[in-house]
Amino acid sequence: MGLALAIHGGAGTIVRSKMTPELEREYRGGLEAGLVAGWDVLTQGGSSLEAVEAAVVSLEDFPLFNAGRGSVFTHEGRQEMDAAIMDGRNLKAGAVAFVRNIRNPIKLARLVMERSEHVLLAGDGANQFADALDVPTEPDEYFFTEHRWLQLQDAIAAGRVQLDHAAVRPVGTVGAVAFDRNGYLAAATSTGGMTNKKFGRVGDTPLVGAGTYADGTCAVSCTGHGEYFMLGVTAYDVAARMNYRRLRLEDAAEETVARLTEIGGDGGLIAVDTDGNVALPFNCEGMYRGWFTEGGQPHIEIYS
Ligand code: ASP
Repeated sequence: MGLALAIHGGAGTIVRSKMTPELEREYRGGLEAGLVAGWDVLTQGGSSLEAVEAAVVSLEDFPLFNAGRGSVFTHEGRQEMDAAIMDGRNLKAGAVAFVRNIRNPIKLARLVMERSEHVLLAGDGANQFADALDVPTEPDEYFFTEHRWLQLQDAIAAGRVQLDHAAVRPVGTVGAVAFDRNGYLAAATSTGGMTNKKFGRVGDTPLVGAGTYADGTCAVSCTGHGEYFMLGVTAYDVAARMNYRRLRLEDAAEETVARLTEIGGDGGLIAVDTDGNVALPFNCEGMYRGWFTEGGQPHIEIYS
């Protein structure tokens, strides 16, 4: 039973031919920083909850990923972010949906878990809750990145408002799962959602059981076309297969992604269990991902 940590920076159409060596280096650097941030917490005796929060904060701060700084734009040209965190130790969770200007939505999600009697707060109300607790905010310019803005212009010009078009689902949602010294699991996920999203669209990320889940068996963070992860209750599906069918983590995670494929969804997930096993299956071209297990080496991978 050793420590374990896995992170992701989104799954989707990540093709080698479209990646320059410089860009790949940047992505790898962002993943490595997230992995180290979480791993340091675990090795210094911190909890899995603290580790997943630290990893996701680092990934949110990195502008190439679609979470926190660098989040994608809505149809109206705003950035509305979703995040969730779950503590497998006591089955508690906190989440926020379409919050604006929050520097680190994952920290706000944790405060919802620890300082409110609710699980999910959304929109203006969630921002008011953040104000009440003096949660750090940033102006719009902090979140702005040129490449996300151009993605929105492309999506608008092409009239691609449908959620199922690949180009409106840029890669970059972030997540982390961890297993700590005391035998507890935790999961965290954070995203800007889909480019050109409208009507207050919320994806799977902040929904317990869909995009994020942790109990006493495993911790799971998902990335991909959120609507299908909601329909498949994908994160919980891994835990259910382990709990009810006594499957090993790897088999449960593989079966869950096979089920996702069956119902038409694309993407992937990261998962850890209480033996410190890690699984990172996906059904698309690539998933930015990294993992670290006790006694092993840190791994960063992008393609399949
Ligand atoms: N699952 C996220 C959403 O649908 C997006 C992603 O993972 O890329 O909002």
